Amino acid sequence: MTFSVRKDRHKTHAVKIGSVVMGGSAPVRIQSMTNTDTADAVATARQAAELAAAGSELVRITVDRPEAAAAVPEIRERLDAMGVDVPLIGDFHYIGHTLLRDYPACAEALDKYRINPGNVGFKNKQDRNFAMMIETAARLGKAVRIGVNWGSLDQALLTRMMDENAALDEPRDTREIMHEALAASALDSAARAEELGLAAERIVISAKVSEVQDLIACYRMLAARSAYALHLGLTEAGMGDKGIVASTAALAILLQEGIGDTIRVSLTPGPGEARTREVHVAQEILQSLGIRSFTPGIIACPGCGRTTSSTFQELARDISEFVRQKRPEWQAKYPGFEELQLAVMGCIVNGPGESRHADIGISLPGTGEIPAAPVYIDGRKVKTLRGENLAEQFRDIIEDYIASRWG
Ligand code: SF4
Repeated sequence: MTFSVRKDRHKTHAVKIGSVVMGGSAPVRIQSMTNTDTADAVATARQAAELAAAGSELVRITVDRPEAAAAVPEIRERLDAMGVDVPLIGDFHYIGHTLLRDYPACAEALDKYRINPGNVGFKNKQDRNFAMMIETAARLGKAVRIGVNWGSLDQALLTRMMDENAALDEPRDTREIMHEALAASALDSAARAEELGLAAERIVISAKVSEVQDLIACYRMLAARSAYALHLGLTEAGMGDKGIVASTAALAILLQEGIGDTIRVSLTPGPGEARTREVHVAQEILQSLGIRSFTPGIIACPGCGRTTSSTFQELARDISEFVRQKRPEWQAKYPGFEELQLAVMGCIVNGPGESRHADIGISLPGTGEIPAAPVYIDGRKVKTLRGENLAEQFRDIIEDYIASRWG
């Protein structure tokens, strides 16, 4: 079931980025970023394709130097040759204006430019460099994300706002001024981009910070003050559990309030860990909130002293992996399959009940129970599995059910 719990979704302009629309009434889009050297077109195209296959609807690549800019057209060509039409976003800092000017094929191959107003230059150069990038986007019909980041906030703006606050009879909390400065930097830059000829329907804004409460405060401000499409993400979220929990906490609150048109989960991968994890986490966030469905839901109990063997954990892991691996094939063959709800339960206490509520459920024998696993389909017990190959039998039942219901 695909539905939105966002009763009063914040109204934003719809922005077209290559073949993808975000904002307006479009679904909340998932994006990700490569961590390959962009100058290595083969590796970057391969990783972008992996991210797209995992479900990333937009992929950002860093364009940090001439060699990277020169490689962008080849990355696009390689993706096209693989049949991957995922829009590419160029992430520019410091010298984006010269790279876009000197590498017109790069400017053309990208679908969107990410510009950080905090590091496009200083004083009069700041406006000139910013204008060069915006004018290029306007001329080529590209979208732009004006991405402000706490780590590279325009220091002149922050200093001025802090000084003005200090001069007040009752100065406000400096953290509030920091939020105001981030929002002002993004909104002033977006307004300047419009003055320079870029339509509001081509502008996305973001104000990223690394603390959950700061992020929530900043985005509430942005949503209250503008209709620009909003890119949500907690920057430098961190590794492993910490990164996932912090990102989920921040994004879930904002998404529930109807704020956010695209999300990125900025996880630091462990050595050798797949970059696609950030895409899976983003999907889980949207699916858990009931905003979008990507893959069948699996209810599994945590197990307890009634599941002392590893059979239950192995089956739960086996079925999760099976569903993840089969997703691309099912997506192509069985539209709507992602509505499937599975239950993999450890024993008789909650197993039959949860299994009846799911489309397909299995209740394993807990410690001391008869070694048999009843299977429920559409609320009715249909068979009992026994023996060593329970996982294989249960996988077959899932396949048959999906084929008959959505085939
Ligand atoms: S369903 Fe059974 S095994 Fe699972 S947590 Fe509950 S009591 Fe424990």
